[in-house]
Amino acid sequence: MIDDEMYDLIVIGAGASGLFSAISAKNNGAEKVLILEKTDKAGQKLLLTGDGRCNLSNQEFDLSSYNFYAQIYHKENTAFLDTAFHSFDPDKTLAFFNDMGLMVSYRNGYIYPTSYQSRTVLQVLLREAESLGIVIEYNSNVRNIEHIEDSTDYLVITQRFKYKSHCVILASGGSSFPKTGSSGDGYYYAKKLGHTIIKPLPALTGFILEDAIVERLSGIRMMAKVSYRNHSQKVFFNTGEIQFNKYGISGIPVMNISGNIIRDMDENKEQTAVCQLNFFPYWDEDILSRQIALNMADFIEKRPFCLLEELFYGYCNEKLVELILQSKDFDPKMRLCDFLNRREDKTKESILQHYSNELERLCDAFLRFDLKLIGYQDFKTCQVTSGGICLDEIEPETMESKLNDGLYFAGEIVDVDGACGGYNLQWAWTSSYLAGRAAAIKLRHSN
Ligand SMILES: Cc1cc2nc3c(=O)[nH]c(=O)nc-3n(C[C@H](O)[C@H](O)[C@H](O)COP(=O)(O)OP(=O)(O)OC[C@H]3O[C@@H](n4cnc5c(N)ncnc54)[C@H](O)[C@@H]3O)c2cc1C
Repeated sequence: MIDDEMYDLIVIGAGASGLFSAISAKNNGAEKVLILEKTDKAGQKLLLTGDGRCNLSNQEFDLSSYNFYAQIYHKENTAFLDTAFHSFDPDKTLAFFNDMGLMVSYRNGYIYPTSYQSRTVLQVLLREAESLGIVIEYNSNVRNIEHIEDSTDYLVITQRFKYKSHCVILASGGSSFPKTGSSGDGYYYAKKLGHTIIKPLPALTGFILEDAIVERLSGIRMMAKVSYRNHSQKVFFNTGEIQFNKYGISGIPVMNISGNIIRDMDENKEQTAVCQLNFFPYWDEDILSRQIALNMADFIEKRPFCLLEELFYGYCNEKLVELILQSKDFDPKMRLCDFLNRREDKTKESILQHYSNELERLCDAFLRFDLKLIGYQDFKTCQVTSGGICLDEIEPETMESKLNDGLYFAGEIVDVDGACGGYNLQWAWTSSYLAGRAAAIKLRHSN
């Protein structure tokens, strides 16, 4: 059935990007704006963000927190992001939210609504959309987007209706967390309209470890620097709290480089990968070596029969200590007096001098611990999609397709993914604002 109305703008998806872009378009003068949403609710993913608190941006915003993998392969992507964020940066975003009545608070650089509830952000967006007269049609699953013959207008086809519109913003999300409605449909429509899709892969996710390791380490949290060297010898790293859990390993540093690891595994058809953990990221090797020698000298005097592993109980969790020592073939159950049996003199200086090989290996065990990853948490639970609509085919100031006049993209559907800390929502706000404004300007000029 054809809806006879001619819309100025149809936005596909009522997530963070869809709502924000429709509001931006209205604020900039678009008149008839319709949002088509597949599910029966708006902003389902937005509600989950930041553990229900919505980390909506970052005070220490930094471009290098985006598209780690893309920066290796497509250096020009940085220029794209630079242009887009220059046009609508986090300060402008906060001012925009402030105008809608949202108060924000800061915690370690992360920006949240003052209520610390994502529901507040959704309510503000829905209230604004309603007062601007934006119509949201729920349970409207867009099945196709076509050009209307002999015109630059679009036909947007759902399971029930065909809608006509001068402009379309595709804000249907990526493939992550499909139970919130975003199952990657938009890639298919964009592809049919001629766009290139960079293979969507999970990002901001955890990895699966071998059962034996999970059994030993589940529940342990620890500061660490996590590094990964890809097949092109580029090293990615991130430092923070890692968490061993019931399937493997997660935590912010693991999630932040997960997109790079997964893309490298995928491109090289590898089922497994090895990352490296440094459990003393803020220590240099020499200082650690001296500290171990000092502890040995002290322990050998007070507790000569203590086990080698006991020496390190003050360093990290005992189960981790055992594994770390075994990784470099030390016997954790060896007595310290047997370990240091080669010399009479057991001062710190003597240990440093005569056990330098062992100290080097011990440091190595703590600073360069290889961890085998045997898989990753997939789209069902990952927080964002890496890949998506290729940036080469989009104008960065307007988010308009270079291939289809009047077609715009916003949010996760585009080949942009950021680190934990509000970067992905910031991308949603920036790209949506630009798309909405540009569509409104185009409409004004064509009238
Ligand atoms: C658990 C979790 C926690 C997160 N926490 C944070 C955080 O704290 N900070 C941060 O910056 N980012 C966070 N993210 C990422 C962030 O939520 C997303 O990047 C952002 O919500 C993407 O917004 P979007 O509008 O582009 O896509 P989505 O929010 O996925 O919205 C897409 C919408 O389009 C609809 N849709 C899909 N297909 C169709 C169709 N064919 N027809 C009609 N409608 C359709 C969907 O139903 C959905 O409503 C988190 C993600 C997850 C999963």
